[in-house]
Amino acid sequence: MTSPPRPAATTPAAVIAAPARDAWPSPAEARGLPTLCEVCRRWARQPVCADCVARHAAVVPRCGGCGMRLAAVAAARCGECLHDPMPFDHVHCAVDYGFPWDALVVAFKYGGRAELAGALAARLLAALPPEAAAWPELVVPVPLARDRLAARGYDQAWELARRVARAIDCPADATAIARADGRSPQAGLDRAARRRNLRGAFAVPDPARVAGRRVAIVDDVLTTGATAAEAAQALHDAGAAAVGVWTVARTP
Ligand SMILES: [Zn+2]
Ligand SMILES: [Zn+2]
Repeated sequence: MTSPPRPAATTPAAVIAAPARDAWPSPAEARGLPTLCEVCRRWARQPVCADCVARHAAVVPRCGGCGMRLAAVAAARCGECLHDPMPFDHVHCAVDYGFPWDALVVAFKYGGRAELAGALAARLLAALPPEAAAWPELVVPVPLARDRLAARGYDQAWELARRVARAIDCPADATAIARADGRSPQAGLDRAARRRNLRGAFAVPDPARVAGRRVAIVDDVLTTGATAAEAAQALHDAGAAAVGVWTVARTP
């Protein structure tokens, strides 16, 4: 008995050419309606009001190697990175993972609040250097395991990556990095344990899509950097010219 032919696999938005910049309005914004600020609960035009952005998302000097706040404005790298650099060409993080962004990221990631992607992507965008020369040629998300994607219904890193890519007029590729299934979750492990757990977890199925290109990996939070490091390694092995890491938040 032969099984019926399987339909061709649908590639989830394999490579999306970036159209013109937009502001990712929420449904209320798109209709010109006010909404409640996610932080202060006052009426606002955006999901996080301008006052709360000014109060909680000031762009501060950060280490270009790990995204930690820097005490000295003039320094490009913190002492930790000078001693033991993370394997990235650069890191951009927008805010510390603390009030109010921790609650927003948790709601976005675990609470089904996919509509927060625009407000969080806007913070990351605000932290990027203004010079287009510093931007990558390809933006990729840290891939989500298939069982997580099935449970969550959306890939939070891709929701951020595609918005940021569109805003800087850069292609985004949801499937440049593939993730092996069946790994235990990373939460609760230290940096060394995370790297052991992740070894070989990522692969680049079609190296031609990244070879010779400057690539930025996008994720919601940079914690130990172990996940991003493994993804960066896969990109480097595939011939990427440079690999940066962009996250909304950085664990202080
Ligand atoms: Zn507010
Ligand atoms: Zn550093």
